[in-house]
Amino acid sequence: MFNLNSLSLRSRFLIAPAIGLILTLIIFFKGYILISDQSELLTGLHNTELPKLAEATRAMVLLSNHHAELHDLLIHRDSDSEEQVLLSGQKFLLTHEELEMNFIIWAQDANYYISEYAPKSDIDYLFNKIKSLMAMYQEQVLEAIDDSISHSEHAHVDDVDVDEKNQHLSNANVIMGDLHDVFLTLSKLHTLKLKQSSRDFKAAESGQTMTTIISLSLMFVMLLSAIFFSGHMSKAIESINKAMIRLARGDKAVKLPEVKSQDLVQLVGAVSTFQDVLEKKDEQQEELASTVKELTYSQDRYFNLLNISATAIITVDTDLNIILFNLSAERIYGFNCDEVLGKSIGMLMPEVNRVSYLRKLRIFARSSEDYILTEAEVIRNAIRKNGEVFPVEMRLGKTKSGANMLMTLSMTDVTERIKSEKEIWIQAHYDSLTGLPNRFLSLKRFSEYVKDVEDNNEMVGVMFLDLDDFKKINDSMGHEAGDILLVEAAKRLRALVDTVGTVGRLGGDEFIVLLRNLESVEAAKALANELVMRFRDPFDVNGRQLVLTSSIGVSFYPQDADTLSAVLRNADAAMYNSKKLGRNTYSLFTPDMGAGVSRKLLLEEQMRGGLGRGEFTLNYQPKVDLRTNQIAGVEALVRWKNDELGVVSPDEFISVAEQSGLIIELGQFVIYEAVRSMKSWIEAGFEITIAINLSPRQFHDPELIPFIRETVKKFNVDPTLLELEITEGVLMSGHRFITEALQSLSDMGIQLAMDDFGTGFSSLSYLRKYSFNTLKIDRSFIADLMDDEEDRALVDAIISMAHSLGLEVVAEGVETLEQLDYLTLQRCEYAQGFLKGRPMTFSTLTKSLEEERSLLSSGSVA
Ligand code: C2E
Ligand code: CA
Ligand code: CA
Repeated sequence: MFNLNSLSLRSRFLIAPAIGLILTLIIFFKGYILISDQSELLTGLHNTELPKLAEATRAMVLLSNHHAELHDLLIHRDSDSEEQVLLSGQKFLLTHEELEMNFIIWAQDANYYISEYAPKSDIDYLFNKIKSLMAMYQEQVLEAIDDSISHSEHAHVDDVDVDEKNQHLSNANVIMGDLHDVFLTLSKLHTLKLKQSSRDFKAAESGQTMTTIISLSLMFVMLLSAIFFSGHMSKAIESINKAMIRLARGDKAVKLPEVKSQDLVQLVGAVSTFQDVLEKKDEQQEELASTVKELTYSQDRYFNLLNISATAIITVDTDLNIILFNLSAERIYGFNCDEVLGKSIGMLMPEVNRVSYLRKLRIFARSSEDYILTEAEVIRNAIRKNGEVFPVEMRLGKTKSGANMLMTLSMTDVTERIKSEKEIWIQAHYDSLTGLPNRFLSLKRFSEYVKDVEDNNEMVGVMFLDLDDFKKINDSMGHEAGDILLVEAAKRLRALVDTVGTVGRLGGDEFIVLLRNLESVEAAKALANELVMRFRDPFDVNGRQLVLTSSIGVSFYPQDADTLSAVLRNADAAMYNSKKLGRNTYSLFTPDMGAGVSRKLLLEEQMRGGLGRGEFTLNYQPKVDLRTNQIAGVEALVRWKNDELGVVSPDEFISVAEQSGLIIELGQFVIYEAVRSMKSWIEAGFEITIAINLSPRQFHDPELIPFIRETVKKFNVDPTLLELEITEGVLMSGHRFITEALQSLSDMGIQLAMDDFGTGFSSLSYLRKYSFNTLKIDRSFIADLMDDEEDRALVDAIISMAHSLGLEVVAEGVETLEQLDYLTLQRCEYAQGFLKGRPMTFSTLTKSLEEERSLLSSGSVA
């Protein structure tokens, strides 16, 4: 079958018009035939020569009339009618002539016209007959007229003449009759012809109707074909069009129609390419959108950054008027954005700095550099809305915005930083507790003073000042009390020294006094004396009056030594000399004091090696049960004998060990040795308790408890025979690890003793809170027991209070029998002191135990 789709689009568009054209041509042709038919008919009608026939007929009738008139005239003529006959004859001749003329013209054309109805020869015959008849008629009529005229001239009429006259007339009548017959035949032929014409017209009419019907149906066919072709073709195009519209609207999931036509395939191909492009465009669009989003986001982020930035960001124009003021700027300066925008940045500068700051900004603004210049770390003063002046770290940048130049200032409020820098500096240079210059700053000051005096003959005096028995107070009353004492001591020192020099704290309870521009030794001596005197006044610590004397050593630069360190060592040696002298005094350095190195450094140095060299030993001081007068236990006390320093008192080296951290190692040595001794005594059959002193510092050692546990385990001793002595000061810090350590010790079955009770706060709450077993009354109360009623009352109170809490009481430093008796009376459980025994070596104590046992077994107990 004919396939439309194989046609090109152009051809298909041409189909409908082509069909239309063909149909139009058909209609036109049909119409043309019809019109030509009809025009032929009309021409035919025209050629019938009807008018001429009518004319001939009229002439014929006229002739007939004339004939009748002439007949009458000729028959009934009287004498006076000759003229009338002539006139009538003349008329007759004219009419006849006209008829003849018409007839001749007509006959020439008419013959072929009617020829289809009669043979040509017949028609010719008819016409010729008419011609001859007419000629004959004219002849006869003219004869008849002549006869009539001549009859009147020949005297009047006789009957014979009349007959002759009638002969011509009757001949004319006969001819007239023949003429009529011929004309009749012609008329009949004409009628036939007319009838035929009218039939032809009718036929032509029906042909016209047919043509109309054909035209209408052709037009209908045309319409249908137009509808069909347009429908058929537009269907695909329409769906492609729809697809394109959908595509244009962004619907990329459009399904394109399947087409076969070459053009449509191309068109669909183009649309599908468009679709691809759209998709690609879409991807690009998406990319673009995401870029835009990102940009928007980054712009947002920029604003966010601008506003979350802790830095104040301020942008100014060339006139230094503020055009940007971020949130941090608002926060830092205290101004609302609206209050500053458009105003000079000068309003953010303190008045004193304003002129110079603005000038610097203008210079920078005018400078030719167009790169970003950063003036980092420039600290400037700024002013808040409330008038507070504060430091800012300023960074300055310049950017070009079109023709304009903008400057951006980034300001960081460095109040806190500077404060903390200051704090750090202070921390690095000042003692946080007393506010005095620390060792570092003191030595710095000293070197400054030394420089000062180099040019003249003056001196710098250096005093080392150490508080006597401070450690004891610190241990027994807690660090808080110790701190109060130190602060008070610092105040006293400053009150006396500030005008003439500097006071510094070297650490612990050691102070340094630097006297500048000293003209004589006497001035220093006077001050030293005054200081000693001032320290004899009691200190008020939480309502308690405490006496805390001091020992002072004095040395001079450049008199005693020409280096800083040498002068310091000299002063230290002099101070140590004062301690030796019994404290509470001052000494001026003399070369025989032979201070090479600082005593403390020396001790520290020697202690380190000493532990390895086995210079440390334990002494054991017996503790006697007042109820049985037998040795119930011992207290382990460490001893140090050094080659260089000789025997050093624990009062001196324990504090150095604590400060240097050596106490951890030393403490472990003591614990280990004590438990080892205990084991020996147990093995020897002496079941005595052994008390070990624990320094507060030892509690900072996480290994303390595990070490004790391991040692007890190692020697397999009864932990209940082990007693640990701690001072109240340990408890005052309130650290959780101390509470926990004490709890673990107690859980292990180890006994706890409160040492040096009475010198500190002697708080009952501690005794309740922690599981103490023993309370040791400080020997200072025992020493004056017999002389001081107050002390006696206090000791009584302590004993009864301890008993009420279920604690046993040990009296320390019992040196006399009186003291012993009194304590026994007061039901004090144990006594420890020189009376019953000094701290002694393991072997000596073992001997004592053995002696006691032998005495017991001999039954001579006193
Ligand atoms: P402390 O715990 O109060 O020890 C008792 C001190 O009093 C001992 O001094 C002892 O010799 C002395 N003493 C005993 N009976 C009398 C007496 O009747 N009269 C007088 N005037 N004194 C007496 P020592 O051995 O010089 O110890 C001084 C301090 O050193 C001790 O005081 C203790 O706080 C500390 N210490 C000693 N050994 C150790 C130790 O192994 N570890 C720790 N952490 N500290 C220790
Ligand atoms: Ca003790
Ligand atoms: Ca003690």
